[in-house]
Amino acid sequence: MTGETMRAWAVTAPGPVEADPLRLVERPVPAPGDDELLVRVRACGVCRTDLHVTEGDLPVRRPGVTPGHEVVGEVAGLGRAVSGFAPGDRVGVAWLRRTDGTCPYCARGAENLCPASRYTGWDADGGYAEYTTVPAAFAHRLPGEVDDVALAPLLCAGIIGFRALRRTSLPRGGRLGLYGFGGSAHLCAQVALAEGATVHVMTRGAAAQALALELGAASAQGAYDPPPEPLDGAILFAPAGDLVPVALRALDRGGVLSVAGIHLSDIPPLRYESDLFYEKELRSVTSNTREDARDFLAVAARHGVRATTHTYPLSRAPEALRDLKAGRFDGAAVLVNDFS
Ligand SMILES: [Zn+2]
Ligand SMILES: [Zn+2]
Repeated sequence: MTGETMRAWAVTAPGPVEADPLRLVERPVPAPGDDELLVRVRACGVCRTDLHVTEGDLPVRRPGVTPGHEVVGEVAGLGRAVSGFAPGDRVGVAWLRRTDGTCPYCARGAENLCPASRYTGWDADGGYAEYTTVPAAFAHRLPGEVDDVALAPLLCAGIIGFRALRRTSLPRGGRLGLYGFGGSAHLCAQVALAEGATVHVMTRGAAAQALALELGAASAQGAYDPPPEPLDGAILFAPAGDLVPVALRALDRGGVLSVAGIHLSDIPPLRYESDLFYEKELRSVTSNTREDARDFLAVAARHGVRATTHTYPLSRAPEALRDLKAGRFDGAAVLVNDFS
């Protein structure tokens, strides 16, 4: 691949997607580092974090970065020190790109908290391109039978939703509330339902509510409406801090609210008596470990978890981000490589 060029989307000046901050550029096909794989992108999911990177809600960590961290692709090249992969292998590239493996967090199995962690599509170029690279130790092997498009959103939206579900410590057969119902929530709901939970969805938009009911949710109502029964656990997927007290008030005694997003608008003042007393808990969710990814991919295969997808050609990536921001589709958007 040395010397060849490729087309890639680059965040040249972060700003509102309506102002076209994503530019199509011609770049050399990246050379994989010694411990990395070169991956030809076949499909790449569109995550809300891509929107935050593109609009500048997240600080710039690599100027001109190519977003995208839900990549399904095939190995197109190997670094000198890589073993166990061969050209043509189907692999997934996710958000967590690298950790130091030596800090106290990594040592106790919490590599998602590693201060030296690096992320795909933020610290390093991601999947809105013909090719990307990934450290081989952080590449995910993918089950053979599911197609590229259906698999892509599982790689971030799915894994994060799964970690958020585990962080709520939902009791068996518990009552779970989901606030917001996009890419991550609709995958999380499928796992929770398969494990016997009763799921209530609070979201704006009739189409998202209809999808929730179709997947088996017991109820669907507006984002600020109370669920029909108290909740043992809840997950906030919408990036709206003003939903935190709303969701806390919907919890039963001892209930846990997890915040799944990487970015949240400010949380209004909480009232201790109604929002936190009776041992309610508020927890954040930060990235994921490779173990979360392996566990989730196995659970998803076992229960037949599938993303409801809305595809765009890679050449129209900016439109996918604008539609995500405007809430113009249900489920998850996936870019399909139409460049090569
Ligand atoms: Zn570490
Ligand atoms: Zn993501």
